[in-house]
Amino acid sequence: MMYARGNRRDYDALAAKGNAGWDYGSSVLPYFKKAENMTNPALATSKYHGTGGPLTVSINDHKDDSVATAVKNTSQDSLDLPDKVDCNGENQVGSSFIPMNVKDGQRDSTHRAYLEPVLSRKNLYVRTHSQVIRILVYRDTRRANGVKFVHKNVKTAVFASKEVIVCAGAIRSPHHLMLSGLGPRDHLRAVGIDVIEDIPVRNNLRDHVVMNPIFPLYIDGSQAKESGSIARIPRTPSGPFHNVIFMTAFKSFRSGNPSWPDAQYVVSKVLDLDGCWRTNNSSP
Ligand SMILES: Cc1cc2nc3c(=O)[nH]c(=O)nc-3n(C[C@H](O)[C@H](O)[C@H](O)COP(=O)(O)OP(=O)(O)OC[C@H]3O[C@@H](n4cnc5c(N)ncnc54)[C@H](O)[C@@H]3O)c2cc1C
Repeated sequence: MMYARGNRRDYDALAAKGNAGWDYGSSVLPYFKKAENMTNPALATSKYHGTGGPLTVSINDHKDDSVATAVKNTSQDSLDLPDKVDCNGENQVGSSFIPMNVKDGQRDSTHRAYLEPVLSRKNLYVRTHSQVIRILVYRDTRRANGVKFVHKNVKTAVFASKEVIVCAGAIRSPHHLMLSGLGPRDHLRAVGIDVIEDIPVRNNLRDHVVMNPIFPLYIDGSQAKESGSIARIPRTPSGPFHNVIFMTAFKSFRSGNPSWPDAQYVVSKVLDLDGCWRTNNSSP
């Protein structure tokens, strides 16, 4: 639920490779703004943000001295970065209190922001507990015309008059395409799938490496114990467990362009209910 857009140079690089409609300034940014409901007054008027969209973005500015000190020390002393940047604004490099998709203290998920408000529409039908088997594609025109799926152990299909949008994630989307006969010819033939179109699917899967070192920057188990914070989470948008992640920073190490970051830092609170960090570390 961190709300951090890609770097504008990544989008511009996509456009430069021939992908029309992917450059940042005139193609992608207007949609980011249209989708966004930025609730932070200082950023709401920025030319990089929108306020009328369905997806709430809020920034908890953590009016807490120990958090403010941790952010300042991490960004300025450890990373040699400016703090208080808008990571979705003019310059992404630097640190900031983290923008989150949080509305009234709770996650503003895609479902909550987009689907819940329109669930009663007559032209929308949501079929849960269903698993797609493959996309149906006309062999002669190579147009997708439906989806085959299984629901409660019964195989069935739905048909599309316009288009099928494949959004099954980075691994399952290419998987479904290949099960449907859209993929590298040799690979599909080797596993017995009838080839409809020989296209380079699943060739560019990337992962990003994550490391989670824990430093005792901020310890406050007593607050959690005394206030019954854990029990309060589902009911009230307050307490020390809301917005536990408080800072992100982007930095460029290897890209050769200081404005084009290749590493992201995230700093979050560590809960210390039994005081073991305090006991084992002389200077919390
Ligand atoms: C631990 C973790 C933390 C993250 N934190 C953040 C964050 O703070 N901020 C951020 O911006 N991004 C974050 N991300 C990345 C973010 O979650 C993904 O980029 C995003 O969810 C991708 O959206 P998607 O719609 O493409 O795919 P997904 O969200 O993966 O949705 C694909 C959906 O397709 C469904 N599906 C797959 N196969 C089938 C099938 N055969 N039949 C029916 N349904 C199927 C899946 O069940 C799933 O619901 C995080 C990712 C992880 C793993």
